[in-house]
Amino acid sequence: MRQRKRFDYLPFRVGGREPQIKRQPFLSDGRVERANRKRITMAYAIFAGIVVIFLGTKFIHRKSNSPTTQEIAAVKVAAATPTPIPTATETNFLRQVTQCFLPISKLYGYDLYISAGFRSFDEQDQLYEQGRSVAGHIVTNAKGGDSIHNFGLAIDLADHRYGIDLDWDKLEKIGTYCGLEHGDRGYTDLPHFQYIGHLSIEDLKAGKAPEPLTLPCPAMSEATPLTMSELNACNAPSFSNSNSSVHIVAPPLNQYYINN
Ligand SMILES: [Zn+2]
Repeated sequence: MRQRKRFDYLPFRVGGREPQIKRQPFLSDGRVERANRKRITMAYAIFAGIVVIFLGTKFIHRKSNSPTTQEIAAVKVAAATPTPIPTATETNFLRQVTQCFLPISKLYGYDLYISAGFRSFDEQDQLYEQGRSVAGHIVTNAKGGDSIHNFGLAIDLADHRYGIDLDWDKLEKIGTYCGLEHGDRGYTDLPHFQYIGHLSIEDLKAGKAPEPLTLPCPAMSEATPLTMSELNACNAPSFSNSNSSVHIVAPPLNQYYINN
């Protein structure tokens, strides 16, 4: 029973009911002792080897194939989070307007202001009803979600003095220089500038956003507009009648701009 006790501290049972190494008449006590120790050591070595192989396999499997638990959780969270609906004019787009478009226009004699920017889906729906179920002129053909304004990527401009009967060709050139797209669809959406890049309205609805714009002149700011010579150095468009008064397009009688 003395030998059996030696195996009690092993993490598993060694041998059967009886002690493994029986006292044998041709072995001295010292040799039995050594033989037992060898067996114990080997048992530990095999156990440790199995543990190492098991953990190693797990590690390799995790590294090469499946995503981690955290990755799976992150995907689940992303799938459960709806695309946030914009609530204001997008800041990068607005910066192009306030730090590039408006200051340059001012150099050419325009005193422009943003007459319309972001519109919520509800506001767009209400605007759509104008001239239809509500009294007034029709001002848009876009319902909620169908206007670039609903995604904060469009503005409408007007001049403090001259309203919207302006030289839009000239303004379009300035807008293009600042990365903006002119709403020159027919003759009816001239005050409209936007930026959606290569995206479609469907892309915007799906939560996609265009690549951020950069200012054509890094030193541009709203507070300190650049001078004409500084702008020329940045390849800004220049016009022969640069400092002359604003060229006005004769306002069409009873013409209402349809703003989409
Ligand atoms: Zn517009």
